[in-house]
Amino acid sequence: MSLERLCLACGLCCDGTLFTHVALTDEESRRLGFDGVLRQPCENLGEGCRCRVYALRPKGCARFVCMLGRALEDKEVPFDEAVELVNEARRLREHLDALIPGELPAIPRARHYEAHGTDNELAVKVREARRALEAFTLRHFLGRR
Ligand code: SF4
Ligand code: SF4
Repeated sequence: MSLERLCLACGLCCDGTLFTHVALTDEESRRLGFDGVLRQPCENLGEGCRCRVYALRPKGCARFVCMLGRALEDKEVPFDEAVELVNEARRLREHLDALIPGELPAIPRARHYEAHGTDNELAVKVREARRALEAFTLRHFLGRR
């Protein structure tokens, strides 16, 4: 229940913050109407971080529980602290979004700007913001425990 509550306050593994896509099996592609991959931000992510195709969601989604979610389940992190960590990750992503607005996931968008942007001063800020987001998500969501 606590993990479900946290996920409904989070959505970072569906909105393009942690991942750029979910790989689909042929059967999942047919069932969901996509061609091999489900790109993020996922169009099935609905109000209140609810998955609109929850019962039909791909195995790659159903299997994934982030490091923070596992720590919560193992009672290593209290719920309120977990929510704070989600909020901090979101704040870091929103900072990056504000520097270089766009629809694509923030980290590849930032890498693209760093490589091809014309404003060097902005590119430095983007690199710092991208690195801060990557380090935070690796430490709390994607790293191994
Ligand atoms: S990143 Fe973790 S806490 Fe957030 S929705 Fe995904 S599994 Fe749940
Ligand atoms: S299908 Fe559902 S669980 Fe999978 S990425 Fe999209 S919103 Fe998230």
